[in-house]
Amino acid sequence: MTDTQQWKIIYNEYQAEQQHLRESLCTLGNGYFASRGAFEFAEASHNFEDNPHYPGTYLAGVFNKLSSNVADKEIVNESIVNWPNWLYLTFEYEDGQHFHLDEVEILYFQQELDLYKGQLITDLSFRDDKGRETELKTRRIVSMADRHLAMLQWELKAINWNGQLSILSGIDGNVNNSGVPRYSDLNGNHLDILEHGEYNEEGIYMHSRTNFSEVSVAQSVRTRIHIDGQSYDYERQLEQNNKLVYHRIPLKLEKGQELKVSKILAIYTSKDDGVGNLIRDAIRKVKGASELEDLAHYHYIEWEALWGRSDIRVKAKDSVQVLLRLHIFHLLQVASPNTLDLDVSVPSRGLHGEAYRGNLMWDELYIFPVINYMKPSITQNMLKYRFYRMGEARRSANEQGYKGAMFPWQSGSNGEENAQEIHLNPESGRWIPDDTHLQRHVNTAIAYNLWSYIKITNDVIFLEDYGAEMMFSITKFLASLTSFSESKGRFEIKHVVGPDEYHTSYPNSDQAGLNNNAYTNIMVAWVMKQSLKLYHRLPSDFCVYQCKKLDINKDTLKQWEAISKNMFVPFIEDDILEQFEGYADLKELDWDAYKEKYNNIQRLDRILESEGDSPNNYKLSKQADVLMLFYLFTSDELKEIFDTLGYKFNLEMIRKNIYYYAKRTSHGSTLSRLVYSWVMARADRKISWKFFEEALKSDVDDIQGGTTTEGIHLGAMAGTVDMVQRAYTGAYVDEEGVLWLNPSLPIEIDSLEMSLRFRGQCLQIKISKEQIYLKHEEGWRDSIKVGVIDRSNIRSLKLGESCSFEY
Ligand code: BGC
Repeated sequence: MTDTQQWKIIYNEYQAEQQHLRESLCTLGNGYFASRGAFEFAEASHNFEDNPHYPGTYLAGVFNKLSSNVADKEIVNESIVNWPNWLYLTFEYEDGQHFHLDEVEILYFQQELDLYKGQLITDLSFRDDKGRETELKTRRIVSMADRHLAMLQWELKAINWNGQLSILSGIDGNVNNSGVPRYSDLNGNHLDILEHGEYNEEGIYMHSRTNFSEVSVAQSVRTRIHIDGQSYDYERQLEQNNKLVYHRIPLKLEKGQELKVSKILAIYTSKDDGVGNLIRDAIRKVKGASELEDLAHYHYIEWEALWGRSDIRVKAKDSVQVLLRLHIFHLLQVASPNTLDLDVSVPSRGLHGEAYRGNLMWDELYIFPVINYMKPSITQNMLKYRFYRMGEARRSANEQGYKGAMFPWQSGSNGEENAQEIHLNPESGRWIPDDTHLQRHVNTAIAYNLWSYIKITNDVIFLEDYGAEMMFSITKFLASLTSFSESKGRFEIKHVVGPDEYHTSYPNSDQAGLNNNAYTNIMVAWVMKQSLKLYHRLPSDFCVYQCKKLDINKDTLKQWEAISKNMFVPFIEDDILEQFEGYADLKELDWDAYKEKYNNIQRLDRILESEGDSPNNYKLSKQADVLMLFYLFTSDELKEIFDTLGYKFNLEMIRKNIYYYAKRTSHGSTLSRLVYSWVMARADRKISWKFFEEALKSDVDDIQGGTTTEGIHLGAMAGTVDMVQRAYTGAYVDEEGVLWLNPSLPIEIDSLEMSLRFRGQCLQIKISKEQIYLKHEEGWRDSIKVGVIDRSNIRSLKLGESCSFEY
């Protein structure tokens, strides 16, 4: 990858073995749907491992459930669905030979993902086995301006040959979900192809439906051809079989002539608003669509506006700038203005692949902070995704003997628990029990996200309409998860799993879960406290109504208060929090020996299981667990939490805990490096930068060795942007609604510049090594309260006003 302009990801060589990775990284989407960056001439593939191409098109929030028989067990999985491949566009020479990139000699190759314009361009020239040389330039856009549209353009030139040629353009329904080799034992046939055909001489359509959730999708495409700039009047043949439908367009091409093919897609689902007849509407849309250049024009306008609000300009070495933009780009392709009225949130692997079967977990915790400052209405909508699943969360809590609402670890269509019961360890080939669904801390993350959104936006209307009910229901659940231990004289939480998924039970125990995960317990105490605050702040009539509705009475409030003050937190020794009770008794792992033997030991869980051992036996972590506390809270906030709990807290504890756990963490999740980079940002800048750089490269270099091919890591991508947006600027909103800045630029960054949306206002920020410049650019109110570094420095910045501070 090279980049000269800081806005482009460029590949100068075709490498078949890199193709799956590039397909994920070159995915184009608009928040409603996305298509992997597979070449349009690549056939839909059911064999991910042996075929370098895997076209995938995914619609946000559309899932399907299927059961599979694995390891003598009937298991049900819900997955995001791979829809028919609308990209299908290829050509055939007169001798019947099909163009296959892997079978020609490539003379020139350049693929360019243009982040500014949101388009993918591939420039190729090649020689086939008959000596025919051809140039082909392709352009692809998934429209940000109209979420139902996408377009492809080809410019093909015969360099040294004349002859007949047929363009084949259509829709290929020969797809299934097979984009993750580990899931190959799972049933991946989610679709019934109901109908397909042509609607006129230019157009093809296909109607498909998921076989359990019964979501229908209509796709229609329109293909137009020009030769040397002249519209070409051609005859077409409709060719189709069970699942594939296309137009064959025969034409004659003279040496040097340029053939231009424009293909437009319209896509609709039965979940869309404003649809009459799905197929008819998709056809009407594509028939009436303007020419490609026009559509592209409006798409560029949207991206320009999105960048205007979201770009972060950094003066830094190497590829920092372009990678940050790549991460913002992919975030905006999943969470965009097109997402605003969709019932969706952020799948942990984007709309870019099939890992985790498209489910979302707690990664919102890493993603929402960024969106909060860019376009908070998107966060608001995504918080509603949780609200609409509260019925299921209540059912789940009730079914397991709890109160309130218990949200699942993995969430898809209706909010049922979608975590796998068993998963495959590719190292050993064994299917093993998966107890990660015991990560009840996902509920504390939802409460934290809600609180942060309200702090940044002051959206009290949302709080009354949705937020309070959600917050109270989660609090009720968490309270019911605790029990009072007479021997400890404190509340505790048993049988849970913390963010470190490598520990799911005690050594040799049959009982899943661990007791008193420090992170979970402290978060629970915090949630109790915030809910009590909320209770006292809400208008009293509304509060009475909520309490009646949710069965909250004086005793409930007393219980919340008691928990907030008296939750048990395990310690190992001198200021070191114990990840969970009993962690200190586990064995130390011989890290050096494992590194030497396996080189890459990020997935120690798989390695140990394949050796007949278990991570449960050792002091090791997949990812930051205890340290999440220092990631989510400032030291002042932590001091307050610990004081309320009656435990001592001092700044030195932060450092001690970081070093204790740093030695024992394998970073088997891309989220882990982020947290480490964050918590070390001020204490150990060198190591923090190393983690930041690794996190920046998680996907572009596929540092986990194969996981990015299955979808990008959206949490890590957003998290790196958050590092710059919040950690390096020190942006923090206090409970009084003051936006504080306390910059600390790494040595490697000279300056940065961005806009932050804050309580409906827009604040422009420029930070260099010595100076902070702030401008209240625009907004709905007269002034905005900002504070810099020390608390005496609060300023009320009027609309249009700017100020600067030396620091
Ligand atoms: C991590 C989880 C995370 C998930 C999706 C896993 O590897 O352990 O914390 O939610 O990936 O990003």
